[in-house]
Amino acid sequence: MQGLVCSPAAMESVVLMESPNGESVARYRDRYRAEEIPRRYWGAGHLAFVILFSLGGIAIAISQLANVSAWAWLTVPVTFLYANLVEYLGHRFAMHRKLPGLGLIYRRHAGQHHRFFTDQHMELDSAHDFRAVLFPPLLVIFFFGLFAFPVGMVIAMSGSANVAWLFVATALAYYLNYELLHLTYHLPRESRLARLPGLARLKRLHQRHHNPKLMARFNFNITYPIFDRLFRTRI
Ligand SMILES: [Zn+2]
Ligand SMILES: [Zn+2]
Repeated sequence: MQGLVCSPAAMESVVLMESPNGESVARYRDRYRAEEIPRRYWGAGHLAFVILFSLGGIAIAISQLANVSAWAWLTVPVTFLYANLVEYLGHRFAMHRKLPGLGLIYRRHAGQHHRFFTDQHMELDSAHDFRAVLFPPLLVIFFFGLFAFPVGMVIAMSGSANVAWLFVATALAYYLNYELLHLTYHLPRESRLARLPGLARLKRLHQRHHNPKLMARFNFNITYPIFDRLFRTRI
């Protein structure tokens, strides 16, 4: 993970950057690492879990498909759009507004992710900082256990098993795509991945969202800005 280490010049810019409450980003990062990241946390392992959980689930779902009709394949684009809407609404409301019962999500996102990363300092310093970007494994299992699989089961019971499995596979693929894109936006400047033309454009949108003055109002899609365009919150 050598490429993930910040240069001295970049570190200096961290020290100078201040978060809205006056605490420098560097100081907040030190505090977050000491208080929020368990000693035995393994960033590469966390990323491996995200990838293997998603690909494993996708493989199981695809293995269940049989004689898929043209209509059933429509599940893929419909689920993709639905996931894009959930991403937009979840980020705009649960992550940037304190809603009853969802305070933990607000605290982790607006209170931690946005203080760890600002538009002036988007880059993580090492794989240890993956903790500030990726969903915790328990939350991933909880989220899919509570939402994706029950919805898939309801679809299966009320109609087509193919539609249900395509829903599960697309939801997992979308989730994996979300995590990998978001992690790419926060990789060090030297990373070639974040400089690829399409990715660089998406990163710029997310970087603007990390401006503390804009974060609660613009660029809520973290992947593709479909609903930001529709709701006119893209800048
Ligand atoms: Zn971010
Ligand atoms: Zn945000």
